[in-house]
Amino acid sequence: MKKILVTGGAGYIGSHTCVELLDSGYEVVIVDDLSNSELEPMKRIKALTGKSLSFHQVNILDKDALNAVFEKEGNIDAVIHFAALKAVGESVEQPLRYYHNNITGSLTLFEVMQDHAVSKIVFSSSATVYGDPETIPLTEKAPIQATNPYGQTKAMMEQILMDTGETYDWDVIILRYFNPVGAHPSGEIGEDPNYPNNLLPFVSQVAVGLREHVTIFGDDYDTPDGTGVRDYIHVVDLAKAHVKSLEKFATTDQETLVYNIGTGVGYSVKEMVETFREVSGKEIKTVTGPRRSGDIATCIADSSLANTDLKWTAEYDLKAMIESAWNWQSKYPNGYKG
Ligand code: NAD
Ligand code: UDP
Repeated sequence: MKKILVTGGAGYIGSHTCVELLDSGYEVVIVDDLSNSELEPMKRIKALTGKSLSFHQVNILDKDALNAVFEKEGNIDAVIHFAALKAVGESVEQPLRYYHNNITGSLTLFEVMQDHAVSKIVFSSSATVYGDPETIPLTEKAPIQATNPYGQTKAMMEQILMDTGETYDWDVIILRYFNPVGAHPSGEIGEDPNYPNNLLPFVSQVAVGLREHVTIFGDDYDTPDGTGVRDYIHVVDLAKAHVKSLEKFATTDQETLVYNIGTGVGYSVKEMVETFREVSGKEIKTVTGPRRSGDIATCIADSSLANTDLKWTAEYDLKAMIESAWNWQSKYPNGYKG
């Protein structure tokens, strides 16, 4: 059985990916410092899959501790690297913290991988590396022009991995996620932010009465209804793209492969809120505010490369995405705290 080390495996996307990995027969080792997550998802992953996993509360910046994990676990076949700070606004306020955690943390991880002859890695990148796109939908060939420190860390990590892949003959798969939403269909794991950064967690929290209204960040964009359009992708579909990436390693000798992971369909902020109203039956109050600094009008993926090359396609439509988000939020209004 193949053993996969998952950094950030206790987080939102990582926890869903661990479920898919265990269900697909992989052995899972999680490394997470719990800086943006907690222990509870680990229990739920085990309950959902009926499988055990190995968890290490370790900061990837701590090279000795990371080395000890690789030594103790032995025979790690590949790494899936989620661990990162991810809030765009916070990255503008705290660039050094972001560069240190995301770049130095990743470099430390890669050095430890190199020391232990682990040479396969799937890396979490983001559509944010494209900045304000010139052409929609976005293919992987679109220029990289990140506009904030968070996006820069992703662009830099991509470059570091490309160079590493080439020089050390690593197998690297970079997945550029579009807008992950939704939760596991069981409603047992989902997104549990301390303070939401993204649209859907805000809408969910308004629906359960934790917040009074959703602010629509601008309705004067050059889009059909004036609000921002994004390509939302169900987190379980996204998780499955990681399993497909591991399968891809067996059939390729290319050093670095890059894939957009989205649905190819865009929805506006108003469409998202309206669908949430229909699914939940809740009144969701909105207030139109100014544009959020740094936001773009439209971001939609061309994921045809992932469709053909990874043999991956998104299965959940918008309604199913929002139903799963509502199922999780209504079952656990306060997330993992109950
Ligand atoms: P998350 O915050 O829920 O998960 C990240 C996990 O990494 C957390 O559990 C956190 O505790 C851990 N972590 C952070 N720094 C660490 C460190 N130094 N050492 C050990 N653990 C550390 O975030 P997520 O939404 O699951 O995102 C996962 C990855 O996907 C990130 O790399 C993120 O940048 C990327 N991504 C996310 C989105 C999104 O909208 N959620 C979009 C594109 C890309
Ligand atoms: N958005 C909004 N109100 C919010 C959060 C987000 O109107 O409280 C809009 C944002 O302007 C963008 C879309 O929703 O058009 C998706 O934003 P999100 O932060 O979820 O993802 P992004 O694409 O910015 O990474």
